[in-house]
Amino acid sequence: DLYGAERLNSEGADLSDPTVVGPLLAGMETAFAKSWTAGPIVGGLTPEGNARSVADPSDNARRVGTVLDSGANDVERALALATAGHRAWAARPVVQRADCLTRAADLMERNRNDLLALLTREGGKVLPDAIAELREAVDFCRYYATRACADFAPMTMPGPTGERNELRLTGRGVFVCISPWNFPLAIFMGQVAAALVAGNSVIAKPAEQTPLIAAAAVRLLLEAGVPPEVLHLLPGDGATVGGRLVSDRRVAGVAFTGSTDTAHLINRTLATRGGPIVPFIAETGGQNAMLVDNSALPEQVVDDVVTSAFRSAGQRCSALRVLFVQDGIAPKVIEMLKGAAAELRVGDPALLTTDVGPVIDREALGVLRQHVEKMKREATTLFEGVLPPSCANGSFLAPHAFEIDRLDRLEREVFGPVLHVIRFKGDKLDSVLEAIETTGYGLTLGVHTRIDRTARKVAERMPVGNIYVNRNMIGAVVGVQPFGGEGLSGTGPKAGGPRYLTRFAAERTLTVNT
Ligand code: GLU
Repeated sequence: DLYGAERLNSEGADLSDPTVVGPLLAGMETAFAKSWTAGPIVGGLTPEGNARSVADPSDNARRVGTVLDSGANDVERALALATAGHRAWAARPVVQRADCLTRAADLMERNRNDLLALLTREGGKVLPDAIAELREAVDFCRYYATRACADFAPMTMPGPTGERNELRLTGRGVFVCISPWNFPLAIFMGQVAAALVAGNSVIAKPAEQTPLIAAAAVRLLLEAGVPPEVLHLLPGDGATVGGRLVSDRRVAGVAFTGSTDTAHLINRTLATRGGPIVPFIAETGGQNAMLVDNSALPEQVVDDVVTSAFRSAGQRCSALRVLFVQDGIAPKVIEMLKGAAAELRVGDPALLTTDVGPVIDREALGVLRQHVEKMKREATTLFEGVLPPSCANGSFLAPHAFEIDRLDRLEREVFGPVLHVIRFKGDKLDSVLEAIETTGYGLTLGVHTRIDRTARKVAERMPVGNIYVNRNMIGAVVGVQPFGGEGLSGTGPKAGGPRYLTRFAAERTLTVNT
């Protein structure tokens, strides 16, 4: 019984084992040389047309592949096919839909080298991040397959004699899934797999920066048995392709991960388009803080701060943005932090020696540089990393840290390897918590303390989706740390959690007088 059994998370690859690393790097080298293409995949087919280049964030002169963006015709055809295809898909036994996900997970593992190569070149991910992301994508598929089989079985409700009452979950219709470039495989797959297994047809709109990996993922899902009328990919611009989709009344639900501003825009569009009132599953940004009191262990704090703020070049929505450190321990923590950050090697993500890869594109780099310049004028520079000459042709930013006096000096989320530090006095913990709450974000929060009461107080009081005590605050594991935030950070459903799938489904009650 595949779906009843307790399943383990996927294994990934052991980068300390030369017999694993050798073939892995050789396989990725072969994959780098392939000519990757993406375009609309509608009804299993991709039209011909003028494709644009997909850039490599670590080297502006290198082209990873080409993509044909979707036109109004593609959007219309995808909507028509997905609407027509939904019923038959929803009527299938859930185990058949789950089997497609399980096969897709196996196929992703079999095509590991291609996917890792794309994550590295198109997504700019260092190898450990790419491997972690592939594992997460595989885990999402297997986890949702297992959950669906358990949750979508009809449930008999207690009732009076002579009456049978049954509650069951079913697909809603056409789900639109809009995903970000920072987890172009894991978040893309997570949304699509959840929507599909719940019995919806899916139109996926990947981020403009990462269409190649999305196309590779869709091809694997189709190969795994998802019918071509049920799953469609529409790469292209958010405002035109995403906007057209979301404003169409045939759309029965939207899953979105991206910026808070875009989430507000989608919400407004759904509210004004008329037609059915539909679920909106949003996971957006954070102004994530970590609180460190004088009782914390400085070595552990520094390790967890470096991981949380600078790994993945700070491009996780879970990443640490503001470190609150109590004044007694602050000098030591800051001193050690400078030393640890100076050790980070920035460079080509395909090299095993690299710790911090590029940011996603030149536009993102420009925004980050502007912020760094502003901080240099208005705050105290704690450290400023140096870029090696090999970074000259890519979108790289070395890790930076600034000391500021108040949280409201930061207007918005800074999505890159830039840490802000604020010292606080021991009796000011409550006002620190209040300041964090006042940002309105509620995604992740870290606490480092050896006082249980403090950890409990923070956890009980703070309206935050994922709180981490005495560890780093990134890399939520499917089925272990269900992930998602509140307030400005999202509508709350937890990806990789036991209740996620129900948000993609309609619940129907059947009462029969027997
Ligand atoms: N789930 C990821 C983590 O725990 C973050 C997802 C995101 O950046 O959107 O680090």
